Amino acid sequence: MIYLDNAATTAPCPEAVDAMDAALRQTWGNPSSVHAAGLAARTLLTDARAAVARSLGVRRETEGHILFTGCGTEADSLAVRGAVYAKRRPEKNGSRGVILTTDSEHPAVEEAMRLLEADGFTVCRVPTRGGALDLDFVRAHAAGVILASFMLVNNESGALYDVRGAFDAVHAASPDAVTHTDAVQAFGKVRISPAVLGADLLSVSAHKIGGPKGVGALYVSAATLRAKRLSPILPGGGQEEGFRSGTENVPGIAGFAAACRRLTAHFTEDAAAIAAVRARLLDGIAPLGSAVRVNLPAVPTDAIFSLTVPGIRSETLLNFFSARGICVSAGSACAARARHVSRAMLAFGLTEDEADSTIRVSLAPQNTAADADAFCAALADACATLQRKERRG
Ligand code: PLP
Repeated sequence: MIYLDNAATTAPCPEAVDAMDAALRQTWGNPSSVHAAGLAARTLLTDARAAVARSLGVRRETEGHILFTGCGTEADSLAVRGAVYAKRRPEKNGSRGVILTTDSEHPAVEEAMRLLEADGFTVCRVPTRGGALDLDFVRAHAAGVILASFMLVNNESGALYDVRGAFDAVHAASPDAVTHTDAVQAFGKVRISPAVLGADLLSVSAHKIGGPKGVGALYVSAATLRAKRLSPILPGGGQEEGFRSGTENVPGIAGFAAACRRLTAHFTEDAAAIAAVRARLLDGIAPLGSAVRVNLPAVPTDAIFSLTVPGIRSETLLNFFSARGICVSAGSACAARARHVSRAMLAFGLTEDEADSTIRVSLAPQNTAADADAFCAALADACATLQRKERRG
């Protein structure tokens, strides 16, 4: 199998598997218990928090805290809904407050925004045409903002958004606005620092970096905690400093921490490996000329790109690749009857037809030159056979 769908999920790294195995066998205590078994689990969590923080460039606890969640989606929801509901917000001019986000967020943020809209908040979506955050739009809508949530790397186009510039623009007009970035796809692909980004809140997910599924984390800056600008969305026993009740997934967190330690130790060589495979892919695609268009954003990240193959539905392409043992994903998800065209790629500037003929290739450090060559050969085959068939049809 040639796996080029690493933005969907990554294979767990051996370090994560070993750490999870050890935690399941040896550190199975409840971290909230006061006895020795509980203390061992609590110690594991403390070490894991430090490992996740370090992988995010957070060196000191005085800068901020890591809260473990059940996934990246939950970290996003805790950030967005937790920040908005932390204060009582009476209605003014028919709105409970203005929230800025982008028009190409992952559903984890977009669907939380829709709930907030239904609850009386005004949500302004910043255009991301060509894969760039429209900073003029941000400036024009920056007054009275209570929360700005902009993803760092788009999960479909691979665009790296100028989140720092956008947060600066928001703060110039609304100094009290809480800032959040969904860094789930940026994690492991670009060097992240919440302080450099100006992010009060930042979400990540373990399974995008060689950790297990079902574990995420939210970085919360110390200033945000001090000013009580985050409220829990899952009440209960008060775990994770009261922000996320529920007994922690200790083995999952152990695997997450191991993946973070691996990432911190190998970031530079991982990035070089990904860049080399990407370059080989783009070199291999180039001879196909206008039969294939790579949708390059303003500032791309090496690990994710999307390509449009005019005249071939992405579903047909996925099946074609799948028959050759190659896993990629669609820029659009096609349900049996309804046609759901990718919001992110429409926001990028593609037409519905183009978005419906778009696939995403996403890389991890283990991908090889041979993977790239196999993909390019299959793509050339697809163009030669399927495009001709479409034309005849
Ligand atoms: N945010 C982005 C940008 C993502 O790509 C994903 C997952 O694909 C998520 C959030 C959700 O993460 P999880 O699968 O851990 O819930």
